[in-house]
Amino acid sequence: MKNRFSMLQKVGPVAVLMLFSACYSETETPAVVDTNAEQAVVATIDAVVDDTALSGAADDASQWLTYGRDYHESRFSPLDQINAANVSELGVAWTFDTGEYRGHEATPLVHNGVIYATRPWSSVFALDARTGEQLWNFDPLVDKSMGWKACCDVVNRGVAIYEDKVFVGVIDGRLIALDAETGGVIWEVMTVDPDRPYTITGAPRVADGKVIIGNGGAELGSRGYLTAYDANTGAEAWRFWVVPGNPADGFENADVEFAATTWSGNWWEVGGGGNSWDSIIYDPELRLVYVGTGNGSPWSHELRSNGEGDNLYLSSIVALDVDDGSVDWYYQTTPADNWDYTAVQPLMLADLPINGVLRKVIMQAPKNGFFYVLDRESGDLISADPYAEVTWASGIDLESGRPIETAQARYDNAISFVMPGPSGAHNWHPMSFNPATGLVYLPTMQGTSFPYSMEEGFVHKPGTWNIGVTMGSMVDVPLRPDGLYTPGTGPETRSPGALLAWDPLAREPRWVVDYPFNINGGTLATAGNLVFQGGADGMLRSFTADAGDLVWEVDLGVGIMAPPVTYELDGKQYLSVLVGWGGSAGLIGPSDSGAYKGEGRLWTFTLGGDRNIEPVQGQELPELTAIDFNDDPEILALGEDIYGKRCMICHGAGGASGGSLADLRYAAPATYDIMQNIVRDGAYGGRGMPNLGEWISVEEVEAVKNWLLSLRAGLMAVQ
Ligand code: CA
Repeated sequence: MKNRFSMLQKVGPVAVLMLFSACYSETETPAVVDTNAEQAVVATIDAVVDDTALSGAADDASQWLTYGRDYHESRFSPLDQINAANVSELGVAWTFDTGEYRGHEATPLVHNGVIYATRPWSSVFALDARTGEQLWNFDPLVDKSMGWKACCDVVNRGVAIYEDKVFVGVIDGRLIALDAETGGVIWEVMTVDPDRPYTITGAPRVADGKVIIGNGGAELGSRGYLTAYDANTGAEAWRFWVVPGNPADGFENADVEFAATTWSGNWWEVGGGGNSWDSIIYDPELRLVYVGTGNGSPWSHELRSNGEGDNLYLSSIVALDVDDGSVDWYYQTTPADNWDYTAVQPLMLADLPINGVLRKVIMQAPKNGFFYVLDRESGDLISADPYAEVTWASGIDLESGRPIETAQARYDNAISFVMPGPSGAHNWHPMSFNPATGLVYLPTMQGTSFPYSMEEGFVHKPGTWNIGVTMGSMVDVPLRPDGLYTPGTGPETRSPGALLAWDPLAREPRWVVDYPFNINGGTLATAGNLVFQGGADGMLRSFTADAGDLVWEVDLGVGIMAPPVTYELDGKQYLSVLVGWGGSAGLIGPSDSGAYKGEGRLWTFTLGGDRNIEPVQGQELPELTAIDFNDDPEILALGEDIYGKRCMICHGAGGASGGSLADLRYAAPATYDIMQNIVRDGAYGGRGMPNLGEWISVEEVEAVKNWLLSLRAGLMAVQ
């Protein structure tokens, strides 16, 4: 494995906090060509993606019509031209540079020879899938001053296609319908209150003529919901509120009124959370839309709900009637969430023989570390088994469906170590399912114990993070020699990350590939007995689906999070994947990781392609010049403390972002000169840096500056 991985393990105090941070561009984003108007009309739609096409997407081997390829979101392709015997002969068919440097998470869609994908800041591009030639580009022209609202980078996971339209959820909360042929705007709706810290990062889904989208924002303080819009007009069809609002304002419907009986206190002031920012899945036969819901806002159950009640519908799988959005059934994976244990992770449908009886199931590996199989008609729990190291619960009681919490799970003002941490044992990175092997290919993060402690004197601070958990504790935890936490408790024998081939019937992994890093990308399964997956090390790999043998790997130069897709044109099978490092891991993650940084690129491979593969070059760090600073230990200690509480989530552990943003230790002298203006006056608002004048004093900014400069001096000493 490459050396750069040692860096990932050195960030012990924060490696477990990877998947939720946000932030701003230190440099302006490169201009995107061909925005909006005057689009070249090249894409042709000669077979419409209608309800029939979406329902039959699994059998349409040549295309990739919806986020998870089909309504089961199995990410399984029946194509086998590329297979375990010849995958090592793959070469590059074409590449497309996206012009963006932040996290790339999108699943490209492929329809009628056109590939549609998205970049950070929610811009969309359409390419000729044979050549990579750009057909059109759409830039939603986001006001980047909202970038601070994105807990986990200004990412986007892709578009939906329906009839003649392409739909994109924009980071600022808009949902936009584009003309699939030209990229021109057909309609646009604002799905959120722009005065609250909402974002959209997920891919919309289309169900029964409605386009459905959720939102994020629980870390900053918001009330989550999911909305369905008429795909033709953008008119709102229905809205599912994940959590209740202030009872004094009345309840929107009976489902919310019922949920309110499971809450206490004044949760609506911060928002309650539950934001459904990723998984949405549809069963057209049952006419149910399933949504995975998010964590509480704030995280601490004590602070959010006086420590009382299950807090529905947080951290749940909820089945909604596609006609009106009413709740058909729900299953709460983490009652009274206290740890940022979202259940927004990808949902997957399958028909599995459970004890000899074929049942329609829904499967999920949410953050909390248990792999769930439920009957998707009734919501009955079939099985729930740990797929990673878990210390918050000793198991799930299959009778009641409730977790059996351990003594250390609930925390107060003292630190309690719990596994998994807030990034979860699995995050948004999609899993795939091969019906021939019966295995689910699941990217997991084993992580380390996370030091949860309740924030003393917590008050709602609009415009900042509001998690009710002390960020500073993450800086102070001692490291083991290998860079991981000194654990308080729990077995920590696993590698930081792994690819699991999970058998949902045997309820255990069939094979495991261990990685020396946490973030391993979404997976693709194919009938060629293959599983494809990218990694944080910039390698794209392929394993045999039945045994997990590594049969191909190629260095693409920049960390990979997005899942690969495959399609067929003119009798040739292609494999495409977006490369680009970011997300919360890229923001808070490893220091000194210039090797991860590089421009986003869509790579497309085929048999007979160019096998002389040139990886994307990482960005070089600049030469340092000395800057005087005050080395008073008290000032430096204050600076480190404030940095941990107010800056680290976006700017990374140790004063240095791991990927997407600039390393503050390397900032230009002129940047240090105006640090007060940047932090307290909003001088970099246009780049997404929030104005923290209300929350950080002049003295504290000076302390942070001096602490950063002390780190800079340390770097210079070893240069
Ligand atoms: Ca969260």
